[in-house]
Amino acid sequence: MMFETPECNFCKSKSIILLKTNVRDTKHNFVECQKCGLRYYSPRAIYSSIKPDGYGTEAACKNQAEKYYENASFTPRATPDAKKGQRAWLKRYNYDLLNRAFKLNGKPESIYEAGCAVGFMLEDARELGVKEFYGCDINKYAIEIAKARLGFDNVKHGFFCDMPGESADMGIMHNYIEHTNTPFDDLIIINGMLKPGGTLIIKTFMDELDIDGSMVGPTGHRYHFTSKAFKNIIGAAGFRIIDFKVRNIMGTVIGRKFEEKATI
Ligand SMILES: [Zn+2]
Repeated sequence: MMFETPECNFCKSKSIILLKTNVRDTKHNFVECQKCGLRYYSPRAIYSSIKPDGYGTEAACKNQAEKYYENASFTPRATPDAKKGQRAWLKRYNYDLLNRAFKLNGKPESIYEAGCAVGFMLEDARELGVKEFYGCDINKYAIEIAKARLGFDNVKHGFFCDMPGESADMGIMHNYIEHTNTPFDDLIIINGMLKPGGTLIIKTFMDELDIDGSMVGPTGHRYHFTSKAFKNIIGAAGFRIIDFKVRNIMGTVIGRKFEEKATI
């Protein structure tokens, strides 16, 4: 695996404040951009060293996708009933989140999800009456499951789909943005995929609430956002935040794409 010491993905500054060194003995440092406050791990794995099959060996990717499909969780409980309960819990969670977004900014006809995993969020949106779906994931086995078991045609193995511009009513980045090397660039891309006025849903860790730090490593989380830096890059990427809720250490944003081009 190859590593890089990146510049800030938002403001391109190379000036950093060192927040933690050698986090959990991984040789990764947790740093903050001195200029804009974005917090990320450095050094980190470069994209080309994690393409094309997710984060790990083929066998690990396959195992992760299958276990997630079977258990709706990466930390499966012991009993089959409990496993069924986890999917039921996730469905209730997805319904609540999607219905909240529908209420705030209208019900979409089409949804694009970056990092759709095995397709549970898209499946639940379909049950709520959404008609068109697009999704991508870097784990090709997760995409195979979404296609074969849930019947989705428009899901693709990769970082982003080749969607026509301004074609989706809603974009979703759910537990996605902390994993990418380029959160601001990715927000700009998803903004370009959405129709003006379209809805964006993002969920991620809020760093100020995650005192102990979460998973870190060359292939794990790359960013932990403070709520201030998070709101800042979402706004600069062309979205107005219409709802921001925090639960435990997670923050969930519902945004609306500006009708007119944002001035950064
Ligand atoms: Zn910066």
